[in-house]
Parts: sequence; structure tokens; C-alpha cells
Amino acid sequence: MKELIEKINNLKKEKNAVILAHCYQNAEIDEVADFVGDSLYLSQMAAKTDADIILFAGVYFMAQTAKILCPDKKVLLPNMNAGCEMADMINLKQLREFKAKYPDIPVVCYINSTAEVKSECDICCTSSNAVQIVDSIKSEKVLFLPDKNLGRWVEKQLQDTKVITYEGFCPIHHNITVEDVLRTKKENPGVKLLAHPECKEEVSSLADFVGSTTGIMNFVKNNSDKKYIIATEKGVVDRLKRDYPDKEFTLIKENLICESMKLNTLEDIYNSLNDETFEIKVDREISQKALKCIEKMLDVSKVGAAK
Ligand code: SF4
Repeated sequence: MKELIEKINNLKKEKNAVILAHCYQNAEIDEVADFVGDSLYLSQMAAKTDADIILFAGVYFMAQTAKILCPDKKVLLPNMNAGCEMADMINLKQLREFKAKYPDIPVVCYINSTAEVKSECDICCTSSNAVQIVDSIKSEKVLFLPDKNLGRWVEKQLQDTKVITYEGFCPIHHNITVEDVLRTKKENPGVKLLAHPECKEEVSSLADFVGSTTGIMNFVKNNSDKKYIIATEKGVVDRLKRDYPDKEFTLIKENLICESMKLNTLEDIYNSLNDETFEIKVDREISQKALKCIEKMLDVSKVGAAK
């Protein structure tokens, strides 16, 4: 593995490439990554980089987002089978039907969506900034897609906005039940539960903290508690265990694994950089429209961060 890591790092220098890795990736990928984080952080890093090649260790919509933000750069996805089941729950036809059912209402799309879907939405959001983005629209009603659980959670935080949600969800987070929460809390009395907002409403409402993967990691960083129950994808727990060896982390249930996210291996990354495959291409017109949707989000996030 050490040799492979060295070869990848040499290729990066030779080709002026950066590697962006999502926190749900296999943890060894951090050894070659320049930036590791959630979708918001990684899209901000993609927008800023002066590298010639961006290799996205994540799933397809993430690499597509990087390509939209950096149309003149070569964007690579190491494994073309790495997709997102939630993003695939809505296509352009379904989006148009949803909008037709609720006309003249602003549309917010979660970043976990295709470029085509983004191209016909008003503004994008991530789980880090979804509340801030919906709040920034100042509309009594908002259409939110594809994740109904994130939409419900946003509505709960903003009492004055009605959030009309599409029927999509992340199968990994949606699979966590109230029974899982009650059982794990009983086995770990007094231990705080940190949950991702893609969990069902009845699960998030039992959590001590709800936040994105970065939000969860920052909570642990800034908290003196020694034990936590985590309700999100296993990759986050793997990183927390590595980064905080003196703390204890319990994944709320077995098998909270996004198989697509785990498809990228160090071998794939090496081959991808070496052969410059698989290159992501996005239709120019779709890309320009989707860019507006993403840039609006980045502008709102910038203002929020400056406050
Ligand atoms: S964890 Fe869920 S939302 Fe994230 S990539 Fe996998 S299927 Fe998509």
C-alpha cells in the first residue's frame, strides 16, 4: 500500500493534480487526498483550485459538480459505477412533473442530484447549509428535492417556511429506525447521539445533535465527552476512531455502508490518474445553467461564513 501511495503522490506532482475525497470513502484514501470533507467543503475547494486535473474520490454527481465549477479542467472519477441512489431518484421528467404540480414556488435542490436536475432548479444546497439556503430565499413555500428527510428537517428549523418535499431519500440513512435509536441509547446510557439530517424525522428528533458529516466531526472536536453514538455512514466513524483514539464511537447499526462510495480503491485512483480516466463531461448548456444554481449556493454560504 505504501508503494502505491507514493506512486499516486508522484503522479499528482507530475500532472499538477489534486485529489478531493468525501468522508464516506475508504479511510486509506485520505493518505493521497489533498482535501477530505463533505460536499460543501469539497465543492468550495474545487472552485478554488489551480490544478490542471481534479480527481474526485466520491460518487458521480460530486465529480459532475466539480466539472461544472471548473469546466476548463480535466475532472476524473476513478470508478464509473460509483453513483448515488438518492440522486438517481429524480430525473428531469420527474422534476418537471413535480414543479408543474406546485407552480411558481422556488425550487431548492440538494447537491446530491444530477447536472440536468440542477440546471432547472433555482438554488442548490448541501446538508451543511440547507437551512441557511432555504432561509435566504424568503419565500413562504419552497420545493425541496430529492431528499424528503433533509427537507423535513429544514422545515422544522425554519418555522415560517413550508417545505414541500419530493419523495427521495438516501437508502443508508433512511434505514435507521427509532428502534435502533432506543436500543443503542439503552446500551449506552447518557451517551450523546449525533445524527445526519438525511435520517428520518423521527430519528433526527431523538438526536442530541443533527449535522452534516463535517458538522458531526466538528461537534466531536469541540466537545469533551468521551463517548458518542453516530447515525451516519460508517466512513465517518472510521475517521473519528482514527482521529480521536482516546474517544469511543458506536455506529448506531451494522452495515451503514454506502457501497457506491466504497467502490473507489487506491488502485482505481492510481489507474485513473495514470490513464486520465474516467473523464467527466457535461453538456455545455446544462453545465452553464447548473453552474448558476451552484454559484448561488456558494454566494449565500460565503455571506453566512463572513457573519
Ligand atoms: S450515502 Fe446515500 S446520499 Fe450519500 S452517496 Fe450514498 S446513497 Fe447517495
